[in-house]
Amino acid sequence: MNEKETRLQATYDTLHAMPEVGFAEHRTSAWLAERIEAAGFSVTTGVGGTGVVAVLKGTEPGPVVALRADMDALEHVVNGETVRVHSCGHDAHCSMVLTVAEELAKTGIRRGTLKILFQPAEEKLFGATRMIEAGAIDDVDIILGIHLRPIQEAKTGQATPALYHGSSYIMEATITGQTAHGARPHLGINAIDGAAAAVQAVNAIHINPVIPFTCKVTKLAAGGATLNQIPDKAVMALDLRAQQNDAMKLLLAKAENAIKAGAATVGATAEAKVTGGVPGAEYHPEIIELAREAIRAVLGEAGLLAPIVTPGGEDFHNFVQAKPSLKAGYIGLGCDLTPGLHDPAMKFDRSALINGVAILTYMVEKLLK
Ligand SMILES: [Zn+2]
Ligand SMILES: [Zn+2]
Repeated sequence: MNEKETRLQATYDTLHAMPEVGFAEHRTSAWLAERIEAAGFSVTTGVGGTGVVAVLKGTEPGPVVALRADMDALEHVVNGETVRVHSCGHDAHCSMVLTVAEELAKTGIRRGTLKILFQPAEEKLFGATRMIEAGAIDDVDIILGIHLRPIQEAKTGQATPALYHGSSYIMEATITGQTAHGARPHLGINAIDGAAAAVQAVNAIHINPVIPFTCKVTKLAAGGATLNQIPDKAVMALDLRAQQNDAMKLLLAKAENAIKAGAATVGATAEAKVTGGVPGAEYHPEIIELAREAIRAVLGEAGLLAPIVTPGGEDFHNFVQAKPSLKAGYIGLGCDLTPGLHDPAMKFDRSALINGVAILTYMVEKLLK
């Protein structure tokens, strides 16, 4: 191993040994901030909570290119004990991005600005939003992300130039009727009847079938301790997924309409709102092409996979939704990862990390040198 790879592996060991969950990445962010400042970047800490923004400027005008790495680990129960584990590999992402930053700081960039975003709380799905609110992408023109892939998607020596996460949202609704004595249902409006009609209406939703989507009721609760009373409240929740953002907009509108119209069949009213979720991937064709070129240069033609569609979500995609002029790209890196992400026993081939470093370095050099 050369000096760069030894440093990369040591960085990974350090970060892997301090797993912290979303918005509690205090040691992780402090350690990363210190390291990247020592490399010559101007550093701002506490961005959107525990986020770190580091900037390296070139001498000539040019684009602002951001590399984003998520920092948080997950909590798991293993043998009855709650433990924190980097089971999504975010420690690997930070290690790769820090190494790219350190390498580029040594030689310097000619034009534009390299901006490193160490982002908190990806797993909570609003770390990116917090960094956006803190202004972290206000001046950014191009943003690049990277994620380890399970072995079924990519092996060591392979990478995809575009990893397409779908969009997924949670909608919660309250259906309101009119309470009455069980003997006099004609004086009430049974919220359960309204909810049942709403469930039927939700299950009858269709959008263009060429776009993968699902829309399911995942919670339904109504009625209380008094079983001879007509209940006037029901609550429900929906999990909605679609592979395209426009399809998701339509799906959310149809779901809200179905809940309200379903409730109205019995004279009940309904309020529905989106209470969480992430948009789907939207990448710029120029950046996908550049990623292809980088993967081909680093891993050869055999290592270049086609774009991958994955049903998982990523809060990275909030960046483009917040700033539509942003050109985004996202690499999926093969590393023989088993048995899977979010499994506390997750392991992968660490020798693949240097491939991620080389791919990202290639892309940044093309954009800023
Ligand atoms: Zn994850
Ligand atoms: Zn992840």
